Amino acid sequence: MECGQAIRQSVPRTRLRTLSVVPLGIALAIPVLAQSPGSQIWNELASGNRRFMDGKSEARDLVARRKDLAKTQSPRVAVLSCADSRVPPELVFDEGLGDLFVVRSAGESADPLAVGSLEYAVEHLGTVVIVVMGHQSCGAVKAACSGEKAASRNLEAVVAPIAASCTKVDKRKPDTFDLAGRDHVHSVARELLVRSAILKKASDEGELTIVEAYYSLETGEVTKLR
Ligand SMILES: [Zn+2]
Repeated sequence: MECGQAIRQSVPRTRLRTLSVVPLGIALAIPVLAQSPGSQIWNELASGNRRFMDGKSEARDLVARRKDLAKTQSPRVAVLSCADSRVPPELVFDEGLGDLFVVRSAGESADPLAVGSLEYAVEHLGTVVIVVMGHQSCGAVKAACSGEKAASRNLEAVVAPIAASCTKVDKRKPDTFDLAGRDHVHSVARELLVRSAILKKASDEGELTIVEAYYSLETGEVTKLR
């Protein structure tokens, strides 16, 4: 895989910063909790998503950026997202070339290829946030919850990891699929840490934040679930 040089960043989950108050020339140093790097990065993603929702995505010099990135990359954020054509992470978060390390498959499940790809991003590219993003009206979730037999072993591999989430929701409710989809996002986020010692270690050491998110096809908004 030709994905640039290895970069290892060490970013503490919470930092202390100093707020200086200067009454009458006397400086007092008051420690206050600053935002964690994960929170700061999520806020930036949310701002980009707001621009996308409003149709005000930033203009970018793609040619210049492409040249800058020819020999290296250091995406701070990885996104594990459904392959659905209506949910492109770069557009949804209004990010540019080199900003997001994107792993996509129908149903955004934590299979070995997805987990390995995310391990690479965290271990070698300096990624500090993973966003697991499901979406409204996901075909993979609907197929999994339909109970129908998949037409091939490959399609079975898509729906099988979602089936457990279907059993947790009341199928009589109109938003069954979205409830199952949200539960699946939570399951995937949890499984990343169960299936990957690399991601677990980074998370435990405060170098990785995993964000669970859900995208609305109707509004374009990405909601942070946790
Ligand atoms: Zn989908």
